[in-house]
Amino acid sequence: MSEYLRTPIEYLKGVGANRADLLKTELGIHTFGDLLSYYPFRYVDKSNFQTVREINPDSAAVQIKGKIQSVRTVGQKRGTRLVAKFSDETGVIDLVWFKSIKWIKSNLKLGAEYVVYGKPNLYGSSFNIVHPEVELLEEFNKSVIGELEPVYHTTEKASNSWLTSKGIAKLTKSLIEKLGNAGAETLSVEIISNLRLIDKNTAVKNIHYPQNKELLQKATMRLKFEELFFVQLGYLRMKIHHQRTIKGYNFENISQYFTSFYNQYLPFELTNAQKRVVKEIRADIGSGRHMNRLLQGDVGSGKTIVALLIMLIALDNDFQACIMAPTEILANQHFEGLSDLLKDMDVELALLTGSTKTAARRVLHENLESGKLNILIGTHALLEDKVKFNNLGLVVIDEQHRFGVAQRSKLWQKNKFPPHILVMTATPIPRTLAMTFYGDLDVSVIDELPPGRKPIKTIHKYDSNRLAIWGTVHQEIEKGRQVYIVYPLIKESEKMDYIDLMDGYESVCRDFPNQQISIVHGQMKAKDKDFEMQRFVRGETQIMVATTVIEVGVNVPNASVMIVESAERFGLSQLHQLRGRVGRGAEQSYCILATSYKLSADGKTRMETMVKTNDGFEIAEVDLKLRGPGNLVGTQQSGMLDLKIADIVRDGQILQLARNTANVLLDEDPNLKSPQNLPILNEFNKTQKGKINWGRIS
Ligand code: ADP
Ligand code: MG
Repeated sequence: MSEYLRTPIEYLKGVGANRADLLKTELGIHTFGDLLSYYPFRYVDKSNFQTVREINPDSAAVQIKGKIQSVRTVGQKRGTRLVAKFSDETGVIDLVWFKSIKWIKSNLKLGAEYVVYGKPNLYGSSFNIVHPEVELLEEFNKSVIGELEPVYHTTEKASNSWLTSKGIAKLTKSLIEKLGNAGAETLSVEIISNLRLIDKNTAVKNIHYPQNKELLQKATMRLKFEELFFVQLGYLRMKIHHQRTIKGYNFENISQYFTSFYNQYLPFELTNAQKRVVKEIRADIGSGRHMNRLLQGDVGSGKTIVALLIMLIALDNDFQACIMAPTEILANQHFEGLSDLLKDMDVELALLTGSTKTAARRVLHENLESGKLNILIGTHALLEDKVKFNNLGLVVIDEQHRFGVAQRSKLWQKNKFPPHILVMTATPIPRTLAMTFYGDLDVSVIDELPPGRKPIKTIHKYDSNRLAIWGTVHQEIEKGRQVYIVYPLIKESEKMDYIDLMDGYESVCRDFPNQQISIVHGQMKAKDKDFEMQRFVRGETQIMVATTVIEVGVNVPNASVMIVESAERFGLSQLHQLRGRVGRGAEQSYCILATSYKLSADGKTRMETMVKTNDGFEIAEVDLKLRGPGNLVGTQQSGMLDLKIADIVRDGQILQLARNTANVLLDEDPNLKSPQNLPILNEFNKTQKGKINWGRIS
C-alpha cells in the first residue's frame, strides 16, 4: 500500500500544477505520504472562547471574538511594526506584527468580526499579542468540521495561493477520506498490543481530524512513539553492526599492573558507582569486541581514577594507553596526578603538549615507538602525525565536549586496529539527548560523589552587595582556604572582557592588600599561565582571578569559594562546571553568583536553578529546555533533531520506551526476518535512506 502513499502530490484533487509546486518548494510536501505526515501543530477548540477582560499575566494562548478598530504602522526601519487595536465588549488589546506587514495590513478588514488566537504578553500596563492568528468569524464558522480543528504551519507565499492552514486542512481531509483503511501499518501486532497503541490508520486520521480529545492524545502518543522508535532502531542496528564487524583487542588479562595498584596504591576506597563502572568497562574490553563508550560523571565524581584503572588493564595486556585533555593545564594536572599515584610502580609516563621542547619531544617519540613508554598524557598535540605508538590499545578522551568528531577519528587512524575508546565527560548530557546523539555508544554513568563532601552552598547576589561578597572571601581566607574569582571571557579576543577582567583584578588587589593574588587568562603565554596556576595549586596565592580557562577539570581541594562575576553571561552548564572547582575537600564550600539587577527571564531561571540544585543532570535538563538541544551538542548535529512530532525535550519517557522496545526487538529478531516484523522492516528501510549518522563516532 505504500505505493499509494508515494503518489505525487499533483494527483490529489484540488492540487494543480501551481499549488503542487508551492507544496513542494514551500512546505516540502512531494507525495501523498508527505501530506499525511504534515501534522498540525495545534488544534482550534471551536467551543472555547475567552474575553479580553479574562486575560491575565499567566494566560496561555487565548481565542477571542472581536473587531479590529484601527490599524497603523509605527516605528522605523528595523523597529517598524504593524499595530491593530482589537476589541470585544470587555476591552481592547493590541495585535502586533513585525513581519509581512504590508500583506497583513492590506488583508485586515476594519469593523469586521474576527477570531484571534495567540499568546498575550503584558506590555506596559496593557496586553498585546504578537503575530496572532486571525480569521474572519464568518470563515471560522464555515469550516467547522469537528470539535477540534487542525492548524497547519504555512508560509506567506503558500498562503497567497490559498494554501493557508484552512487550505491545507481541505487537502488533508480529502486525502484521508480517500485513504480508507489503506494506510500501511508500520509496527508489529505484538508491539501495538503490548504497548496498547492505536493502529497507524486511526492515528493518522485522528492526528489531523480528532474525533475527540482522548483519541487525539492516543494518536499523538502512537505517532511520537513510532518516530522515536525508528530513530532508536537505526542507532541500535548500527551499534550491533559495530560490535559484530569491528573486532577489538581482547583485554583478557588482569594481572600485575592492575592488581598491585588496586591492592597497594589506591588511595581511597572506590565508590559503588566507580566499582560498577569499572566492571562495565572491564566486561566490554574483555569481550573481544571493540569498545566505544561514554563515561558520564558529574564534576568531582572521580572519573580520573576509573580511567587509570582501565589504562592499567591495557598495560596488563601489553598495550599502551593515552589520555587526551582539552587544555594544557588539565593535561599537566593529569600528568602530575597520575605520576603521583603511580610513583611506586614501574610505569613509564610522559607528557606531551604544545609546550614540550623539541629535544624532549624527540626522546618521547622514540620511546613511544619502541614501546618503552606505557602511558602518554597530553593535549591535541597527541594528534600530530609524528606521534606514533608502538601498540596503542586504549584512548581516553577527557572532557569530550571540546573535541569534534573528526578529531576523534584522526586518533583512531593511528592504529592498524582501533584502540578501545573511552570518552569522559562532566557535561552531563541529559539522558534523552545522549540517547539521541550517542545512541550507538555505550554509556556508563558515575552517579555518586565520593563520601564526605558537603554540598556546595550557592548564593545569588547583586553587584551592589559587594561588601557581603567580599565578606565571605575574607572569612574563608582567614580559615586558610582559597578563592576563585572568575570573569566572563567568551572569546579570548573580546577587548571589553579583557578590560573588565583587568579592572576586576585591580579592585581585588586594592580590597585584599594583604593577600597574594594570581591571575590567569587566555592572552597569557602557556608558560606564564601554568606558572600562576601552579602557585595557586601549591597554596602560595590565596586568590585566583581568572577567566573560564579554569573551567574544566582543575583540582585544588583547598579552594572553598567560587565567585562568578557577571554570572548572567554564562550558560548553565558552564556555571555548573565552574562551581565544580570548589567543594572538593571536606569543608563547606560556597559559590557566589554576582549579577547586575538587569536579568532576563532566562537569566533569572539560570540563577534560580543554580541556587536550587547541585545535580548536574537536573541542571542539564533545564539547560536543554532553555537553549534547545542543538546548542547543547553542537549545531552541526542539530539536523538529527528533525523530528516531525516528537520533542526530545518533553518526550523523554516515550524516547526511553522506544529505545527499550527497539532493544528487545533486535534481541529477538536482529535482522527483522520474522514475518510479523515485516511492517517494521519495510518502514525501517524507508527511514534509513539518505540519513547521515552524525552521532556516529567510528
Ligand atoms: P572528575 O570526575 O571531575 O574528573 P576527579 O577524577 O578529578 O573528578 O576526582 C575528584 C577528586 O575526588 C580527586 O581529588 C580524587 O582524588 C577524589 N576521588 C575520586 N574518587 C574518590 C573516592 N572514591 N573517594 C575519595 N576521593 C575520591
Ligand atoms: Mg576530570
